[in-house]
Amino acid sequence: MKVLKFGGTSVGTPQRMKDVCRLITADGKQKLVVLSAMSGTTNSLVEISQYLYNGNKDGADDVINRLRTKYFAHVPELLSVEENRKSLYEFLDAAFRYLLSFPKEGFSEKEEKIILAEGELISTFMVTSYLKEQGIRTALLPALDFMKTNADSEPDMNYIGKEVAALLDSQPGMQIYITQGFICRNADGGIDNLQRGGSDYTASILGAVLKAEEIQIWTDIDGMHNNDPRVVDRTQPVRHLHFEEAAELAYFGAKILHPTCIQPAKAANIPVRLLNTMEPTAPGTLIDNRSEPGRIAAVAAKENITAIKIKSSRMLLAHGFLKKVFEVFETWHTSIDMVCTSEVGVSMSIDNVRNLDNIVNELKKYGTVTVDKGMCIVCVVGDMVWENLGFESRALDALADIPVRMISYGGSNYNISFLIRESDKKAALQRLSDVLFNGKE
Ligand code: ADP
Ligand code: ASP
Ligand code: MG
Repeated sequence: MKVLKFGGTSVGTPQRMKDVCRLITADGKQKLVVLSAMSGTTNSLVEISQYLYNGNKDGADDVINRLRTKYFAHVPELLSVEENRKSLYEFLDAAFRYLLSFPKEGFSEKEEKIILAEGELISTFMVTSYLKEQGIRTALLPALDFMKTNADSEPDMNYIGKEVAALLDSQPGMQIYITQGFICRNADGGIDNLQRGGSDYTASILGAVLKAEEIQIWTDIDGMHNNDPRVVDRTQPVRHLHFEEAAELAYFGAKILHPTCIQPAKAANIPVRLLNTMEPTAPGTLIDNRSEPGRIAAVAAKENITAIKIKSSRMLLAHGFLKKVFEVFETWHTSIDMVCTSEVGVSMSIDNVRNLDNIVNELKKYGTVTVDKGMCIVCVVGDMVWENLGFESRALDALADIPVRMISYGGSNYNISFLIRESDKKAALQRLSDVLFNGKE
């Protein structure tokens, strides 16, 4: 069986939902389909929560009522049979009454997570109703009955595998199984989620535990592009990527794929295919464990990076210096993205600055500390095995006119990363695209 995930843009309107249903039923084969909330809905639910955190019930109710009007208007567009429309109106009515029922006081993260879950609960009910109206044997599998995270907030793969298999077995012979992306229960049994954009992760986890033939991530663009199409002109889709290359690109800003999504698929060796809902016959991008020798595949960039440099003459010939430095980051639960060292100092980059002041204060015990904010990691991904000649220099040449704060190469066989100013990001990405992919000198 294949596991297919359709993102918010793919189910963003009743018409798009119908298009998705046509696409998943065309070949008559059995599928497990993971859906996101309709695009914009999770953002509205976040907004509602923000009003409630601030005790502004009127503000929250206003957003809820606007969303309710929008969803009610979708009903006659999606369904034709009066009885089916009535059940969907009733479902939506109950969902929005529930949202309106949250009190002004005592709003916490727990309530926010309950509210955020509504987007996927609603979209999956809508698509299931439409499929059933079309006479397709369809079962809606509630993700809250099997998607579970453990005390470390990691998916409990054994539990998920057992429970989802049991649920599938309890409803045999269906053509389409629908479930919610993103939402789960935590170790305490409370409603939780896999972080924004986490529906991709749901699909990958389910593909892995079910040993699926393939995991397909359907979105609004023809596969992973060789640069960020939102920033750079003339990007092209990359037809094939190694798991590691895709993971680097996702982590370093290629939003088409959630960074967590590669690991379960890779561990279970299930190929992942990125496909375009608007152009279903386009080949998209296949991600698996094969690498393509001597190829630079793509570029991605991650903003909001802070660089920290610590210089110390004591580092010269001393052992244990790096350990002390890294321990400071560990104490403050801050992970490091890039590291560069010399004989007298070390530079690191972080994206979580919640504990920056504490980190800097403690590092001052060991040397002189400087901090550069507003930085950006640009990551060039491909077959970067060290014996390959010329790859680093081509990337470096492309950035000749851009001030580079750090360079990291050799940490993996798949990337070279540059730390530059955020204000230089667009120019750097365009230049790398032109030189690496569009044949400019
Ligand atoms: P969905 O709602 O389907 O999950 P997202 O909005 O989360 O879709 O992600 C898809 C978007 O990611 C695309 O519209 C595209 O603009 C953007 N994107 C960013 N970087 C890349 C890249 N390297 N290749 C393809 N798309 C990218
Ligand atoms: N609906 C969630 C979000 O917008 C999850 C997802 O779409 O993947 O973040
Ligand atoms: Mg997404």
